Amino acid sequence: MVYSDFQSLSPAGLLIDNVEIGPDRIVITARCRAAAGTCPDCGQSSARLHSRYERRLLDLPSHGRAVQLRVAVRRFRCADPGCRRRIFAEQLGSTVAGRSARRTFRLEAIVHHLGIALGGRPAATLARRLMLPVSKDTLLRVVRRHAARDSSPLCVIGIDDWAWKRGQRYGTIICDLERRRVVDLLPDREPGTVESWLSCHPEIHVISRDRGGGYGQAAARAAPQAVQVADRWHLMENASAALLEAVRRSMRRIRMALGSAVIDPALLTHAERLQHDGYLRREEAYGAIRVLARAGAPIREIVRRTGRSRKLVREIARGGGGDVFRCRSSTLAPHLAWLDAEWSAGCRNGAELWRRLRATGFRGSLRVVAEWATRRRRAESAGRETLRKVPPARVLSRLMLSLRDQLTKEEAITVASIERGVPILVSARDLVERFHQMVRDHDPDALPVWITDAAGSVLSSFAKGVAADYAAVAAALTQPWSNGQTEGQITKLKLVRRQMYGRGKLDLLCARLVAPE
Ligand SMILES: [Zn+2]
Repeated sequence: MVYSDFQSLSPAGLLIDNVEIGPDRIVITARCRAAAGTCPDCGQSSARLHSRYERRLLDLPSHGRAVQLRVAVRRFRCADPGCRRRIFAEQLGSTVAGRSARRTFRLEAIVHHLGIALGGRPAATLARRLMLPVSKDTLLRVVRRHAARDSSPLCVIGIDDWAWKRGQRYGTIICDLERRRVVDLLPDREPGTVESWLSCHPEIHVISRDRGGGYGQAAARAAPQAVQVADRWHLMENASAALLEAVRRSMRRIRMALGSAVIDPALLTHAERLQHDGYLRREEAYGAIRVLARAGAPIREIVRRTGRSRKLVREIARGGGGDVFRCRSSTLAPHLAWLDAEWSAGCRNGAELWRRLRATGFRGSLRVVAEWATRRRRAESAGRETLRKVPPARVLSRLMLSLRDQLTKEEAITVASIERGVPILVSARDLVERFHQMVRDHDPDALPVWITDAAGSVLSSFAKGVAADYAAVAAALTQPWSNGQTEGQITKLKLVRRQMYGRGKLDLLCARLVAPE
């Protein structure tokens, strides 16, 4: 029986001889349309038949059934007597299947896309439902095989690290910034690994990277032909981080400026008073260290004379440590407004306040609430306001960089007090704002002046870093390239890894990311 109507359903180049429809599969018997074959060695065509054999290929499933192609393949004798090859098998051609393939090209394309979209095991499950009899390993093999093919020249790359395991193990991602796609993943972020990758790609002429890590050095060694561009987003971020660091180091002075450093021991509970005594003893010792450090005594000498640890002495000599005393109230912080309202409404009993607060979802202990009530009562009888709470450094540095009209009245007062009390932070803030503006305006001419101005400020170490990376920072202010899209690819990478339950091997992860959408 000849199913001539089925002819258009089979891949071009095949003639269907028979279609056999079984309960769970369809077997199609076919042969090649061409009259002759072409010798792969000499390229001569030959119609001198030698023998036949059968090739079995899986094709796209149909009507809930797997489809198998049985192709009668001919062997020919080569027509050229001088050719080394005497017998060759005919090839099925670019529309049917590759040499020795077990699936048609069109089935392989579906398998490849399934593997890319879902990864091995989930893709195999779906493939079974779609009547595509492929195993997980086959899926992965197909994905890997296709990944190795693409090789268009690379000119502009972005390079960044990504976490295999946060804080423990990092890999490197390389993106083609012109074509907006992932090019490769490297197993770590060691300069040696990056160098050997870069040295295989002499055609790269722009490398966008962040300022930390060894990517800059690796690029300088292995790709000296390339212009390095510091990533603008990282530059802005680094400048803000430098201000945050300056604010952290100034917290003591900030607390003084905000008037929250003055403690009246009479307002403290018993437990807090014990803590406060310990705090005073510590402060005394820290004060002695500060005096010695200011007098120019070496750290070793201070350690010997005060009996304090080297780590502590170094921290205090550098202006850190020794914060002002703070009452324990962190677990209460989100509930203070509620407590104030209850208090004003007349509930003055600590235990009763605690019971009511628990009903709103509070998990803390009775003691925390009772201490708050005691402090509040004493503050009232002393005719004072409760101690003003100072926001953390992270919040303060953000407030300092915010526009005035975006601050609440209270925030504006806080910023103004800091500006009055800690003037070095004002100049630091102005420098960071100038830096951000310079990056936004793409203004490389402003860079040398900025570095000179910042060198004498509390941002000097950030300024030193910028000066050491001058060419790349200046390039960031002139070149159009930035790593913004690399960040986007890292997000995609995390998504794909999660689909693979975090077990994805690097080459497979890479194949799924590198593949065109
Ligand atoms: Zn030949």
